[in-house]
Amino acid sequence: MIQEKILIADDEPYVLDVCRRILERNYQVQIVNSGLEAIQVAQENRFDLLLTDIKMPGIDGLETAREIKKLHPDIVCITMTGFSTMETAIKALRLGVDEFVIKPFAPEELTLAIERALEKERLRKENIRLKSLLPLFEFNKLLMSTVDTYLLLQQVLDLAISETKSDNAILYTLTKENKLSRLLNSDISPDYLEDIETKSLILTEQLKIDQTQVLVQENVESTFNDILDALNIKSIVATPLLGKDKLLGVLLLLKKRHTFTQSECNFLSVMTSQAAVAYENARLFEDLQNAYDELKTLDHMKSEFINIAAHELRTPLAILMGYASVLEEDAEGIQKKHLGIILRNSLRLRALIEDLLNMRNIQSGQLSLTKSDVDINEIITQTVADVALITNEKSISLRTNLANNMPIIKSDKQKIELILTNLVANAIKFTPQNGEICIESKVDETTIEVSVSDTGIGIPEKEIPKIFRRFYQVENSLNREHDGIGLGLAIVEGMLERCGGKISVESELTKGSKFIFNLPITSS
Ligand code: ADP
Repeated sequence: MIQEKILIADDEPYVLDVCRRILERNYQVQIVNSGLEAIQVAQENRFDLLLTDIKMPGIDGLETAREIKKLHPDIVCITMTGFSTMETAIKALRLGVDEFVIKPFAPEELTLAIERALEKERLRKENIRLKSLLPLFEFNKLLMSTVDTYLLLQQVLDLAISETKSDNAILYTLTKENKLSRLLNSDISPDYLEDIETKSLILTEQLKIDQTQVLVQENVESTFNDILDALNIKSIVATPLLGKDKLLGVLLLLKKRHTFTQSECNFLSVMTSQAAVAYENARLFEDLQNAYDELKTLDHMKSEFINIAAHELRTPLAILMGYASVLEEDAEGIQKKHLGIILRNSLRLRALIEDLLNMRNIQSGQLSLTKSDVDINEIITQTVADVALITNEKSISLRTNLANNMPIIKSDKQKIELILTNLVANAIKFTPQNGEICIESKVDETTIEVSVSDTGIGIPEKEIPKIFRRFYQVENSLNREHDGIGLGLAIVEGMLERCGGKISVESELTKGSKFIFNLPITSS
């Protein structure tokens, strides 16, 4: 248990000795035999209670209590007197004396008076603590709900001033280069502000090193006492805003005519430690927001670049393909073969450009729908015919299992053709020779379902959620065996979403994959 500290002042050695013996059992006691000595000792140490004789040569007990109260407003004062007149009692109360003991007193009388006075003080402090809990609670609610650093620090400043009844306050934050930059100040005239800044610089610099609260007050010796005279104030307290592992800022509070009490200093420590956590989080959030904004700008620039590049490539490619196909018609032998290669690769290039433009339209929400009657089974049959050459080349067997009662739906035929072509092209690409692919269609009351399954290489489980991302490919680009740029599935998903449908995958590594998509029968 922490023992309270008691300072006893009396010019009679016998009284001093008796009091010390009585109180030493329960308290830390220091004795002095004059008022002057008591004031000197109190300048260097903090005591919880002063027990003083009233009549002492030099500075009397009441004056001593008054001076010590100036240093430590929270100290409890008890006077001892051989006689007590109404006049001295009133004077004593006015000076903030809490109790009297009349000499001669029995030991129990003294201990009782001391216990009573300390208990009163404990209750007073507890009361202050409880009272300060409410603003702290309100403050906390605000901290939890704001990520605006300016607003947050403004609240720190306002609350600090109102709860400590300070005259002025300044809040600094620490830059990345460990420099203090003034973020906020209570309304201080510019000249005085400049004065505070220059005079208290050494104090704030000290905080950067020690990172503990510094209280400077009149009559209490410290290396920073000059600041008080220079600013013509009674007290200044500097409280650090400590982050997880570094100093985030410094809060400076000034009082012109009073000193800060211990409870006020405690309040500031608690408040700034809460504020520091919230401030650190808000700063992280700001960093994240900035990074996100930058990414968004980059992403926009990339989309614009893709858009321009794709448009610019389209026209010369169309001209190239036009001339190549005219030449191919009339060519013979090896020339015809070479022109065929040019045309096939030009087609691949065109598909790539179309993919880029489609992706860009999906992302920017510019994908328009052209609705007409769509027969899904017919699209499946057509797609199978279109890829027959390639499946034959790879000796892949491509089967269909189509629902008989497939209704005609109103949707965008071209987009559904593209969705199916992409899925079938992937199935062919990722299925080795002699594999199997099956396209199935089903229907229920509200939706039609199409699946493309293969006996190909399959997809590792952890990769499945990623394959619909733009430019994502399971094989890395350095050892990739299959062509493509990783846009097919992102386009499929985007287009399906636009048509009111959904896609899912089931896959097992080395066994094969099944892509299933559905579309609503009645589109909205
Ligand atoms: P691309 O085919 O151009 O690489 P996609 O977006 O169509 O891009 O597919 C993304 C990735 O998903 C492919 O690179 C591949 O790793 C995986 N994938 C898609 N379909 C299949 C499939 N049927 N079998 C195995 N892996 C597949």
